[in-house]
Amino acid sequence: MSSLGQALSRSRLSRPDAIRALKSPLYELEVSVLVIYTGGTIGMKDSGGGLKPEPNALYKFLHTLPILHDEQYAEDTKLYERYPEFTLVLPLSKQKPRVVYTILEYSPLLDSSNMTPDDWAKIGKDIEKYYEQYNGFVVLHGTDTMAYTASALSFMCENLRKPVIVTGSQVPIYELRNDGRDNLLGALLLAGQYIIPEVCLYFYQKLYRGNRVTKVDAESFDAFTSPNLRPLASLEVDIKIDWDIVLRPETLDKFTVSTELNSNVGVLRLFPGITTDTVKAFLQPPMNGIVLETYGCGNAPERPDLLDEIKKASDRGVIIINCTQCLRGTVKATYETGHKLYDAGVIAGGDMTPEAALSKLSYVLAKDLSTEEKKKMMSQILRGEMTGDLVGPKRSLSDSRFIQVIAKSLSSSCKEELDAIGDALTPSLACAAAKVGDIEALEAIRKMGSDLSMADYDGRTPLHIAACEGHLKVVEYLLSKGATVYARDRFGDTPLCSAVSFRHKDVVKLLRKTGAHFSRDEMVDAGMKLRSLAESGDLEGLEILQLAGVEVARTTGCE
Ligand code: ASP
Repeated sequence: MSSLGQALSRSRLSRPDAIRALKSPLYELEVSVLVIYTGGTIGMKDSGGGLKPEPNALYKFLHTLPILHDEQYAEDTKLYERYPEFTLVLPLSKQKPRVVYTILEYSPLLDSSNMTPDDWAKIGKDIEKYYEQYNGFVVLHGTDTMAYTASALSFMCENLRKPVIVTGSQVPIYELRNDGRDNLLGALLLAGQYIIPEVCLYFYQKLYRGNRVTKVDAESFDAFTSPNLRPLASLEVDIKIDWDIVLRPETLDKFTVSTELNSNVGVLRLFPGITTDTVKAFLQPPMNGIVLETYGCGNAPERPDLLDEIKKASDRGVIIINCTQCLRGTVKATYETGHKLYDAGVIAGGDMTPEAALSKLSYVLAKDLSTEEKKKMMSQILRGEMTGDLVGPKRSLSDSRFIQVIAKSLSSSCKEELDAIGDALTPSLACAAAKVGDIEALEAIRKMGSDLSMADYDGRTPLHIAACEGHLKVVEYLLSKGATVYARDRFGDTPLCSAVSFRHKDVVKLLRKTGAHFSRDEMVDAGMKLRSLAESGDLEGLEILQLAGVEVARTTGCE
């Protein structure tokens, strides 16, 4: 029984008790990941005419690989009865929950060169459909158009609070020397064990923001680069997550996937001597938006014939984004040759990759907005796809006088030590502020550069504490600052479990609105609990569970 069930069986649910110690050791260490298998080299075999995806082979093969499946654990814990078909389980990694993963194989499996925006929409719909059932998602995909898919998914997934990690390989997983095993293993660990709420691309031990990458090598295992943003994580001896650059949705809105995309978009790469006719033909209707790949920091020839065609198209409502042909750097209005483009109505694309700019156009142009609103959206940062203006160095906790005084009395002074003291103290300080409902203190902690999703020694985040205390305003504040609703403490509880245990109806409603939900096991427990609450006439308990998303008919068998 989960602690949720235990808590609800107590009369007033006022404090956690020793019963927690009786939690089943079996399931609490599990997290689940859905692997959406779309195709790509990772699952290809050579059938004579070259490599092509082999249907119905990956699951069977993974089943035989001890590094990617622990059959003993599966049998001991009746895994196949508890999870859907095509489920596997990773061996236990150091002190982290066990990752159970289910493979959803597409038919037909595709070489990613054959993929279209309809395929992106299909992946997006599946993420939406299974969102509540899994802790994270891995998308197995060919490398050729992986950067496009990762970019497109990043825009389509609105208010994402769980990891979506796209990966694949350069060599089929069935071959002796291959990069598929490592890439799949790394992606599964990251998607299951860390709440990185972004669409990412994982390859060759690096986790990148999905809309920042581009494929740069057709032969090396190190196939991708993120030219203008450092990796979000690296998997070497240790798994290191760069939490400072991980983005979180700062809104109370629920996760949705916007699958409407506009296909009348294109990429026009300038080259010396490009003819007016070429540019004119490219900009003809039905073209709605183009990525103009210019030189250096956004320069184009100062030819009136070209600029005239660009201006005419822009006046017709075609949205034109300026991206550089250089791998690194950003478009700036440094030269006169660049200025002229903006006079003709072109929008600066910053340091966006052409893949990101194209899929952003496709996403934005499908919105029911005016051309001006769409242009504005194109120049805004929607999912961290470009670098914003630098507004001075971020303040760090080690700048705080309080931390410095403590450091002094402990006689430490170097930056690393100050940071370590800050990391150790701030979660507790933030939890203490959340307990007494002090939003000002939380805001001060946040402004010092601290992450309000950080957990204390028991894995409790300020959101857990505010949910236990029933501080609705604090919960609202924390959610609006990106606090994750999916954090689990040492007892396996989420903020939703806490709010349910302590019967704070408004908090339960707010957390649900923002996308919080029970896990598979909690649902089963809650279903059983409903029955006993009904028998004892505990209407309040019943109501809380219903508010938390437990369906009476489905879980108890009542009609
Ligand atoms: N052509 C393959 C694909 O993109 C290449 C790969 O997966 O590496 O599907």
